[in-house]
Parts: sequence; C-alpha cells; structure tokens
Amino acid sequence: MKAAYFKEHGGSDKIVHGDYRDPVADAGHVLVRVRACALNQVDMLLLDGRFPPPEGLPHVNGCEVTGTLDTVGAGVTGLTPGQRVIVFPGFSCGTCEFCLRGERTVCLRYGYLGAHKDGGYAELVRVPAANCLPLPDPVSFEGGAALPLAFLTSWHALVAKAELRPGQTVLVQAAGSGVGSAAIQIARLVGARVMTTVGSDDKIEFARSLGAEHVVNYRTGDFVEEARTWTNKRGVDVVVEHIGGETLERSTYALTRLGTLVSIGSHDTHWGRLDLRHVYSKNLKIVGTNLGSILELRTILDHVVEGRLKPVVDRAFPLEDARTAVQYVLDRKNKGKVLVIP
Ligand SMILES: [Zn+2]
Repeated sequence: MKAAYFKEHGGSDKIVHGDYRDPVADAGHVLVRVRACALNQVDMLLLDGRFPPPEGLPHVNGCEVTGTLDTVGAGVTGLTPGQRVIVFPGFSCGTCEFCLRGERTVCLRYGYLGAHKDGGYAELVRVPAANCLPLPDPVSFEGGAALPLAFLTSWHALVAKAELRPGQTVLVQAAGSGVGSAAIQIARLVGARVMTTVGSDDKIEFARSLGAEHVVNYRTGDFVEEARTWTNKRGVDVVVEHIGGETLERSTYALTRLGTLVSIGSHDTHWGRLDLRHVYSKNLKIVGTNLGSILELRTILDHVVEGRLKPVVDRAFPLEDARTAVQYVLDRKNKGKVLVIP
C-alpha cells in the first residue's frame, strides 16, 4: 500500500510518500480503508523524536481516522466490510488494575493509533475491531476525522475532569488548534462563557465564530490581565492548557480560587513551572487527562449529527502532499484541523 512515513526523525522533509508494508487483519483486528486522517500535535512530537514511536522506525503517523471497513480478521463479529467507520484511537488491555476500574486511558499497556502502532497517513490501517464505531451517514469522512482525538480529549477534559457547569468561565488556550477549536464549542454547549488565545489577529474572528466571547492575541496582549478584566478581577473557573512552559505557569495565575487547570498536552514543551503558593492558597486543582471513552465519542457523534457541535476542518491535502500538510501545521497556519486524504 501507499503511505506517508518517516525513516528518521526531523522536520516535514523527513516524510516520504511511497510503498509501505501492507498491514494484516489478524484475529480480533480489522483493516480500515482510510478516507480521511487528521493531523495532530502529537504527530509532530513523533516526527521530531521528542516522543519516539515505541515500535521504532519506519513509522506512519495519524491517530484520527475515518474510512470504510476493508478486511475483517478471525473472530470479529458485528462489523461488515464496506461499512463507514470512525476509529477510537486508544488501545487498552482490558485486564490491568486501571482497566478493571473502568479507567482505560491510564491502562498499564495503553497505546495510541499512530503512535504506538502505525496510523492513518496511509491507504489502510490495522485496528482492533473493538475500536471501530459506525460513522453516522450525516457525518462526512472529513468531518468525522476531526473528532476522535481533538473533540474527545476536550470533551473529557471539560465535562468529566473539570465538571464544567453552566455560567462558569473558561480560558481555552490556542483557539486555532484542534483541541482549542473543539473546547470552545464544548464549553459553549455546556453553557459556560469562553475566552481564548490566538497567535495572530487573523484568527480572532475564527475564534469568535466558534463561540468565544473574548479573544486575546497572546503575542501582543497579556492573557492573565485580560482574564482578570474579563471576569471583573475574579479569575476564570477552568483553563484548558496544552502548550506547557510559561503558558502553563501563567494559566494558573488566570484561575480563580478553587479553579481547575486541565492539562491535555505539551505542544511547546514537556516542562512547566508552578508557583506552588498559588496552588495551595487558592486551592487550585491541576488535573491531567488524555483522550476519553468510546461512549463519550458516541455522545460527541450524536451532538454532531444534531448540529450542536461542528467539526472544524481547515483544509485537506492529498496523502502524497503529507509533507506540505505537516509543514502547514508546524507553521501554525491552521484554523482547526488539517487532514490528509489517501
Ligand atoms: Zn489495562
């Protein structure tokens, strides 16, 4: 099959489009013919080696996949070749202490499609049958590919971890990112008020169109000061943080007492410093989260079908132009998701 893969770490120039080993649908697994695959920040960490693929190189990135079922392995029931599917990207063992507690995203043997296994920058991808959900007809392959990581992570962060409630205030970092554009919509759906940051003025209108009430260009403004002003000196109830470094530290200053910071990524740096006086004296919660459950993905699909949440796709590139697509995301030009289409 054709895939866009890399044999060594580096920038977008390391991505090669060409022939790649064909995946096999062994017992309990299926092959999905990829119709759309979204790019993510984690792809960039895998590519440049900050998060080296656990199975080594060469590697195919791509954790958000929609497509049609191609081949079904032994023992798989309830799935029919040809049907439209969306792939839940998390793998878990089902038997460890944390799986038994129902917390599969912290499984001792946890893995991601496109990280721990080859992903969707390819014509075919191998996934456990249990990870395939039917993609409802009203949801396009392109729109569906914007959901499994970006929307699910933001949903779990805001609804399950921060327990966001109507009327609360939320600061969402980086409205232009996949998780940012999803988090703004989800917070609005819950009935919360949203402020957000952007890195360029041309993203301000985009952020407003998603439902953000107040938008700050973090290159020219101070989001901590803006958060104080916007909340009448109170601070926000929740911050969705996925940048790391100084942004993480400053995000805690934007919180009100008893506020919650949900950490869902480290797109700039894995490291961050905290002034612990703020954490204990304001009784802050700093909560980590990754992905969510298959049930939550189904809930998100229901909201998309009903038009209450909208996948945000900036643009789609043909798979052979994956290198250009990756550079587009590295340059932070995107407003929402960028896709590759085999
Ligand atoms: Zn487990």
